[in-house]
Amino acid sequence: MQTTPLLISQMLDFGTTIHADQEVVTCTEDGTRRMSYADVGRRSAQLAHALRGLGIEGDKRVATFMWNNAEHLIAYFAVPSMGAVLHALNIRLFPQQLIYITAHAGNEVVIVDNSLAAPFSQLLPHLKTLRQVIVNGPIDDQTREALAAPEHIEAVHDFYELIDGQPDTFDWPTDLDENSASSMCYTSGTTGNPKGVAYSHRSNYLHAMAVSMTLGVGQGDRLLTVVPLFHANAWGFPYLCFLAGASIIMPDRFLQAAPLTRLITSEKVTSGGGVPTIWNDLLRYLDEHRPDTSSVKRLMVGGSACPPSLMKEFHERHDIEIIHGWGMTETSPVGTLAIPPAEAEVGSDDYWRYRTAQGRLLPGFQARLIGPEGDEMPWDGEAVGELEVRGPWITASYYANGTEPQSELDEMAAKFDDGWLRTGDVGALTRDGFLILTDRSKDVIKSGGEWISSVDLENVIMGHPAVLEASVIGVPDEKWGERPLATVVVADGASVTAEELHEFLDGKVAKWQVPERWSFIDEVPKTSVGKFDKKVLRARYAEGNLDIEQLS
Ligand code: ADP
Repeated sequence: MQTTPLLISQMLDFGTTIHADQEVVTCTEDGTRRMSYADVGRRSAQLAHALRGLGIEGDKRVATFMWNNAEHLIAYFAVPSMGAVLHALNIRLFPQQLIYITAHAGNEVVIVDNSLAAPFSQLLPHLKTLRQVIVNGPIDDQTREALAAPEHIEAVHDFYELIDGQPDTFDWPTDLDENSASSMCYTSGTTGNPKGVAYSHRSNYLHAMAVSMTLGVGQGDRLLTVVPLFHANAWGFPYLCFLAGASIIMPDRFLQAAPLTRLITSEKVTSGGGVPTIWNDLLRYLDEHRPDTSSVKRLMVGGSACPPSLMKEFHERHDIEIIHGWGMTETSPVGTLAIPPAEAEVGSDDYWRYRTAQGRLLPGFQARLIGPEGDEMPWDGEAVGELEVRGPWITASYYANGTEPQSELDEMAAKFDDGWLRTGDVGALTRDGFLILTDRSKDVIKSGGEWISSVDLENVIMGHPAVLEASVIGVPDEKWGERPLATVVVADGASVTAEELHEFLDGKVAKWQVPERWSFIDEVPKTSVGKFDKKVLRARYAEGNLDIEQLS
């Protein structure tokens, strides 16, 4: 067989010719703006020429500091297609982390949205590897001056002024090694420094094919991409849309339920992706306003466990399938998708067992479970172990640039076990390859020598109609070593007591697992990508900053 390399530029060529009329739609303050895939192709060529002019050769790194919009999509294609490496910066990281990862990746050029330019200009003096700044959209003189001020910055450009007039075709290099880096992402760094993952052309290509095939994305679908382009490779959505011929609907900075609903109804969205908190907000909004969402077939949810109650409420009240997926930055990210087998009758217990699991392993994605004693556990849906994975879109190592101390290199190496990635996730696998995660190894609560899944408790508590959000952490306990503490956010206009919730759990989880400690809070703290931030909750607890009700 022939061995033409799998390259991002091929996905670009395919999408811009075969699917020339599909479009990227970007949300604006008062409506939308649109660009056809044919135009994305022309603009990508122009951007690539402009970047060459700014000295981007070989595998140099181009960063973005942007929301989800057409120009970000153009960068997603142009930078890898020319052979350079795209590094989408997570705009919500702490300044120290952004400074660290920019230097570590060696970013030279950055593209910044105008809406983010002012905060970015404060960081820029510390981002010493950057030479050139490209701003997407108009900015005021003061912001421009602030961006141009640091000595290491050679020039500040306007995105369209820079690329207008450049040739609108590019001779994309076809002799690139498909295993060379196309893009990179850093984990959000729950411990220590963020760790870099470099995706290859090949890994992105195969990942996009596997996800679109499994999720069932086809020509003419319209995907609301709420998952940020800077979070875990945007779940492959930009690339799979070009392969499948699906239009991509981008919310830019308008991430609240009201503008998302406007996009869904006006753009006839058929599918999409986002973390549970986004869909949770959307559900409340749809319940209240009852817009016509009949175009929506399924929305993908991932990043953290989705409460079954959320899926069921969408299903029952809005006829929308919320499809669970599991993955990590290290795995491109998608490893599983919870599409129930056709023979599972919709609404049956069997159906919900499949739907609420993390999902079936994607073709090509290998897994094993390693038990507490280091032995491999059976796939019986019961036996629990740490999930280890292997496959063509799973990183084989973390990106190191030679500046890391030995201790950090050792820490990175320890994440791999004989060619398998240790995920840090704990769960079971069914005989037919469905993953049921019970917890992250560091969140699981060790009570009297038994494990309590914090996620299971959260799911049940969030099933109570008065509860908006619940997050459970393990806290020290004299007798049991550790016990669960449930922190709860009550829904607007509702009220509930700790005793009532305690009673509500009766019969739904084992008696010894029911928390005695409850704390009502205004909001569950979230990480930079919208997950429950248990680190912050644990710190608040340790500092004595949580009001706790203790039941006997
Ligand atoms: P971070 O580790 O910084 O949160 P990632 O976004 O890469 O960065 O997170 C990957 C982790 O998110 C997984 O290891 C897992 O613990 C969690 N996760 C992702 N999807 C799910 C899911 N569907 N159910 C439960 N946990 C999930």
